[in-house]
Amino acid sequence: MNTKLMRQLSICGIDIQSYLLLKRGFKPVIRLDVTENNPNNIENFIKVSETHVFIKTFDEYYDQKLSRPLSFAYISLSEDLAQEAYEANKTRDLKSLGKLLGYPECCIDSFIRNLGTSVNHMIESFLNTKTKLSFYCNSLFNFDSKVDEYLNKIYHDYYNIFTANDNFFLIRHMPCAFDCKKSIEIGRKTLEILEEELPELAEKIVFALKKPILYFDYFNWIVFYGNLKDNVLYYSKVLPYKSLFPGNNLKIIKEGNRIEVLDDKIIVYKDSKFLLKIEKQDKYKGVIMDFS
Ligand SMILES: [Zn+2]
Repeated sequence: MNTKLMRQLSICGIDIQSYLLLKRGFKPVIRLDVTENNPNNIENFIKVSETHVFIKTFDEYYDQKLSRPLSFAYISLSEDLAQEAYEANKTRDLKSLGKLLGYPECCIDSFIRNLGTSVNHMIESFLNTKTKLSFYCNSLFNFDSKVDEYLNKIYHDYYNIFTANDNFFLIRHMPCAFDCKKSIEIGRKTLEILEEELPELAEKIVFALKKPILYFDYFNWIVFYGNLKDNVLYYSKVLPYKSLFPGNNLKIIKEGNRIEVLDDKIIVYKDSKFLLKIEKQDKYKGVIMDFS
């Protein structure tokens, strides 16, 4: 992949994974929020990438009057598909829009079902997982479509923290479950292409995703080097991916090597020595998700 194109992608805020899938014909359309973008940036990108774009501004979005207009660009190798994605977006045909973005039907359905509710998509996918969690489906670092307006404010307040690793994903959508077959298929394909085009990035992504996580909510989690056995996490290291997890507790956890997760509390040990107890607000605020 040439550096000029990489620069254009980054200026426009298009992730490399989506672009590569689009160019290879595995993703029909990329939808991009260009409200803050300079239209020239998109124009330049279209020239370099030989794609088509359809930019539309919404004053109203899904029956809600917007305080400031929203602009979306629909980028595709086919002009018709870009237009179709815009139409689907305008008429709120989320199913068609999701399909045009290349997402699996099972995941679109579950996303639509949870839309407008307060469910945490990560916990939902976790609870729907029937077999083993697959790192291809790990969407910890990806905030796209996860956060509503209130959560979006937190996300933007800590923008630098959460954008530092936001290219660590192999699927762009929220999976219906962390063992969703269709999502794993997309993740595999994405990794295969990344390994060809940008092997170093591919390696970094797999390293970050294939790990156990202590997960509380979108903004509070810890990634470990370790393994889970009978709901006990044995770890040798806390990895340096940052979240908003409180620093004082994190410091203690870094000194430990074992975490027991119970329904109402989390207990941290160094060998047999007790280090810390964290009371849980509910059963699912503090779970181990083992993607290793
Ligand atoms: Zn699915």
